[in-house]
Amino acid sequence: MTTQLQAAQAGTLTEQIKFVSESENLEGELIRAELAAGRLVIPANKLHLRTNLKPSGIGRVLRTKVNANIGTSSERCSIQAEIEKMQVALDVGTDAIMDLSTGGDLDDIRCELLTRCPVPFGTVPIYEVIKDRDVEEIDNKIIHEVIKKQAKQGVDFFTIHAGVLKEHLPLLENRVAGIVSRGGALLAKWMLYHNKQNPLYEMFDDLCDILAEYDICFSLGDGLRPGAIADATDEAQIAELRTLGELTQRAQQKGCQVMVEGPGHVPFDQIQYNMEIQQEICGGAPFYVLGPLVTDIAAGYDHITSAIGGTAAAFYGASFLCYVTPREHLGLPNVDDVRAGVIAAKIAAHAADVARGLKGASGQDRKLSIARTNLDWKTHLAESLDPQTAEKMHREACIETGTKELPSTDYCSMCGRRWCSVRINSEIREAIKRQARVTPS
Ligand code: SF4
Repeated sequence: MTTQLQAAQAGTLTEQIKFVSESENLEGELIRAELAAGRLVIPANKLHLRTNLKPSGIGRVLRTKVNANIGTSSERCSIQAEIEKMQVALDVGTDAIMDLSTGGDLDDIRCELLTRCPVPFGTVPIYEVIKDRDVEEIDNKIIHEVIKKQAKQGVDFFTIHAGVLKEHLPLLENRVAGIVSRGGALLAKWMLYHNKQNPLYEMFDDLCDILAEYDICFSLGDGLRPGAIADATDEAQIAELRTLGELTQRAQQKGCQVMVEGPGHVPFDQIQYNMEIQQEICGGAPFYVLGPLVTDIAAGYDHITSAIGGTAAAFYGASFLCYVTPREHLGLPNVDDVRAGVIAAKIAAHAADVARGLKGASGQDRKLSIARTNLDWKTHLAESLDPQTAEKMHREACIETGTKELPSTDYCSMCGRRWCSVRINSEIREAIKRQARVTPS
């Protein structure tokens, strides 16, 4: 019974490491060494690996990864709708899926999604623990049973809110938004009702044993993440982070892979500090951030506020960006929201990878730029992050300008033929080459 972490520490290049090394075009030994040091994870439940999982790595030496949250609520519950959302997220390139369902038959939904999911699949088991019962009723036995069952179903990573402690709760007194994490709020209520410590913290060693058995990766949840920029980097957030640092070490000592979840709502100028302090406290364990959203006032556009924060986060230390959809704070996302959210997060991740100078990160940018300069619309559109949208917009522009051939080979409707600097540029280049005068348009 060896986990990825134990195998890497013993010097073994596992099949998963070899797969990641090929897909990222990096030396297997580098991946192994980073995994052994706890700075990289490959969330891959042994049982999901036996079916359809294509392993993917998360860590600073790799391309920044993106996660899409899907899932039902008690108000909107359709397995088919969730399958469609997952498919759209996969089509536009999400690297992971989290099922956050809280409505309907959770086992059915999870299993239907998992059998169709070729990327790492995560859940927040405390949601199922709490569903259909009052939060006060939960105990260690119920938690153990749910986590063990989901492990056997093949889930690759679990968000475990073990870092919210009873001692942290008084620190929330002056917060604007209190606790915004669903798991964090429910566990805080349980602690206050029973006047006891967080059960996930108390049974943490037991949880490590389950996760190690299936080689599931911990995603240590930040139950006290700030839900308003006014609460960012406050005492409660940092106190929980210190507990997450302690839990990271404990889980790794038991052979478990660990990533750590982070904020939330953070003003742009505090992002660098937030990334650096997590890396310091958690020994470089991959940081998985929700956003961060850099302002609170963009309801309806939070995929943009989170992409702005996501680029800064991935530049300064995060390895994994959880998408935010335009419908964040307003309602359960639909298929179009999921699509927009994944694309926004992918732009954020890619922009950071380019700025970090990751090997090969800007290759596609160069290819597209050359195509754009040559008015090679076919390559230009195909190399775009979202070719479907790019092609649709180009087609509409061609219709506006009366172009019959698609894709067009000349200008577009933005500037018009006479003003098209790209077309004029090609004339200038040609003239320079021929050492001739430019002819009038
Ligand atoms: S018309 Fe303007 S936007 Fe369109 S290709 Fe030419 S320079 Fe670019």
